[in-house]
Amino acid sequence: MQEEQIKQIVIIGGGTSGWMTAAALAHFLKNKSYAITLIESEAIGTVGVGEATLPHLRFFNQTLGIDEAEFMAATNATYKMGIEFSNWGKMGDAYIHPFGEYGREINGVAFHHYWLRQHFQGLGKSIDYYSLPVVAAAQQKFMFPMSDERSVFSTYSYAFHIDAGMYASYLRKYSENLGVVREEGKVVAVNQRDNGEISSVQLETGAVIGGDFFIDCSGFRGVLIEQTLKTGYENWSHWLPCNRAVAAPSELDGALLPYTKAIAQVAGWRWRIPLRHRTGNGHVYCSEFITDQDACDTLMSNIDGKLIADPKFLQFTTGKRKKAWNKNCVAIGLSGGFLEPLESTSIYLIQIAIMKLIEFFPDKKFDLAGVDEFNRLMDMEYLRVRDFLILHYHATQRNDAPFWDYCRNMSIPDELAHKMALFRERGHVVEYQGGLFLEPSWVAVYLGQGVVPSAYDPRVNWMTNSQLEKTMLEIEALIDRAAMQMPAHHVFLEQHQAKTNGRPRALMSLYGGRQ
Ligand SMILES: Cc1cc2nc3c(=O)[nH]c(=O)nc-3n(C[C@H](O)[C@H](O)[C@H](O)COP(=O)(O)OP(=O)(O)OC[C@H]3O[C@@H](n4cnc5c(N)ncnc54)[C@H](O)[C@@H]3O)c2cc1C
Repeated sequence: MQEEQIKQIVIIGGGTSGWMTAAALAHFLKNKSYAITLIESEAIGTVGVGEATLPHLRFFNQTLGIDEAEFMAATNATYKMGIEFSNWGKMGDAYIHPFGEYGREINGVAFHHYWLRQHFQGLGKSIDYYSLPVVAAAQQKFMFPMSDERSVFSTYSYAFHIDAGMYASYLRKYSENLGVVREEGKVVAVNQRDNGEISSVQLETGAVIGGDFFIDCSGFRGVLIEQTLKTGYENWSHWLPCNRAVAAPSELDGALLPYTKAIAQVAGWRWRIPLRHRTGNGHVYCSEFITDQDACDTLMSNIDGKLIADPKFLQFTTGKRKKAWNKNCVAIGLSGGFLEPLESTSIYLIQIAIMKLIEFFPDKKFDLAGVDEFNRLMDMEYLRVRDFLILHYHATQRNDAPFWDYCRNMSIPDELAHKMALFRERGHVVEYQGGLFLEPSWVAVYLGQGVVPSAYDPRVNWMTNSQLEKTMLEIEALIDRAAMQMPAHHVFLEQHQAKTNGRPRALMSLYGGRQ
């Protein structure tokens, strides 16, 4: 039995995925006699982007015993309550997809059905007014959510904008303290056993590093999972056509917004991510519809502060590896797949892969059921995110550019077509278990981008018109008062940056305590 236990774990890559994996394995497997080696190459470097996160990262840090105030100081973090999408449904539109809820469920029926009933009567305001994180973010306010489910302050969650390079450095220290050994060098050859499993990797220096279990965190290269094991890739770029990005950080200029900006452009979108020490800017685009030069010019002409570094170009193919776990190798991070950064989901997918890996941690037999289950769960996670992202591109009325004509007219996956049809017909959001994006997120994007149902759930008809009007006014007033109590984001950051106490417990939820 003892001989079957894995002893040597080798991680290739020291980007966000490599160091998150090393830190979590070192933490969770610390009572076992595993040796963990991480190999990274400074000459190759990391992808150097990835600054907007989801609330789940708080849970990751919490499980590793990382103090949130220390983490925020180490990564120059700001708080994030959602993403503002501008010009997606049509030019001039803007909505915030919040980490939180709209109104509250009444008699077992989701709030948006009550809202729809008023909307059809020509009454009521935009649904934005009934979501505290939307109202607060729009007013640039922030405060920690509360856990008391009766409070309106429990209806949201929060994430961070971080300097991802600093996060990797922080986790490197954390991991090395727990015994992870870092090897500098470039992997130039990979040796395999007769059964195809990887036995060792060879560095440029000639050093050979053997292992029982290999984790490929080598980024888009996929040094082990693709270059060696030829696992194959599912290409989803016909649905998510953006395939390039240009990124450039700038000096801070303007307000420290508690949300990410995603502004649609003629052939893609721009991001703006406020950190404490600088602003992250980028333009994600499709090379079939715009040249690199024009994409770069668009980015440059929209940057507020002074540039800190030259623009960096990146290329990618949206999709995922056919199997994230193949033989004795698991691909985590960009080597496992990439769904473009529109909803800041990549670090979340890294986190999920790590947690599932620990849950299904193998012995040397690499039990097939565990491997298959890991792959099934990761596929499900990718599919959930994929369809939600496609919705942003497809649900558009924009007809001002060939890129948007393509997105509007493209065929979409059957599951997404079904979801959209149900929402259009009756305002119903398809429920599922597991994976990202529940009802509030779908409602935010559908309504934000002009997918308005033609009917609502008839169960809301138990209310009289005047009861409905009163309820809606009460919810709006409650949210308005709550937002007024919240301090400005920058003030809250100053006041709480060093404070460990008073931070809410992190949950694996996008929305706060109630979802
Ligand atoms: C344009 C863009 C914007 C993004 N924005 C976000 C965002 O806002 N939020 C989010 O969650 N994610 C975002 N992402 C994704 C995010 O950047 C990545 O998921 C994250 O950085 C993890 O990358 P990685 O560690 O897998 O790969 P990398 O950062 O590329 O690291 C790869 C590592 O492998 C090493 N390596 C490679 N080959 C070898 C070799 N032969 N020998 C030795 N070492 C090797 C490299 O040196 C490096 O250390 C974005 C991605 C892109 C492209």
